[in-house]
Amino acid sequence: MSAAEQAQVAIGLQAVRERIAAACVKAGRSPESVKLIAVSKRHSVDAIRTAYAQGQREFGENYVQELVQKAAELADLSDLRWRLIGRLQRNKAKEVARIGCAVDTVDSLRLGDALAARAAEEGRTLEVLVQVNIGAEAQKAGSAIADLPGLVAGLRALPALHLRGLLAIPPVVSDPEHSRASFRRLRELGSEHGLHELSMGMSDDLEVAIQEGATMLRIGTAIFGQRPSAA
Ligand SMILES: *Cc1c(COP(=O)(O)O)cnc(C)c1O
Repeated sequence: MSAAEQAQVAIGLQAVRERIAAACVKAGRSPESVKLIAVSKRHSVDAIRTAYAQGQREFGENYVQELVQKAAELADLSDLRWRLIGRLQRNKAKEVARIGCAVDTVDSLRLGDALAARAAEEGRTLEVLVQVNIGAEAQKAGSAIADLPGLVAGLRALPALHLRGLLAIPPVVSDPEHSRASFRRLRELGSEHGLHELSMGMSDDLEVAIQEGATMLRIGTAIFGQRPSAA
């Protein structure tokens, strides 16, 4: 990575932090109540190191293979924390448990059971979020809202998992304001179930998400620039 590219990451990160701070002031929230997850999928480990050097500690990845590789290459950054924000297949649960990565996309008890079993084998506990299919979209992952009570109860019964909250990816809209109802619904579901973490809000709609109570924002492009296309 060139010095100029590194500078771009630092500038992008700073700009995102300023947007978050301004949105928190406007919403009357403390900036510490909102965590920035830097989504680093398809970006290099150098880009991650650059963000880390600027104080960023939580990183989100979508693909288990890529996550495992990067975690190995960045093992020297011992306080860097990973979150899996992409789909997890049960047969990959072991790799995730070995790294001790948080899994924000648990959407079935079968997956939760597999993760818990692998985590127990590793002698670890894993932080998890339930992904909710907030727009009831056929093509999207996530638990149906109607299935949440059973899923939440089932996950809470697994001592190797710490269920912290909910994640949603609302339907694609042209105006961030149109995501407000989805964010609000996720917050209501969180309080119904006593779940405090709400992973919602991306580059285009982080201000609305903060107004509606987001505690985790998932932001990639605004920090790292465009993702290189898959090779
Ligand atoms: C890629 C991704 C993001 C980040 O998207 P950007 O447009 O790069 O900010 C956030 N959440 C999820 C689930 C993603 O897959």
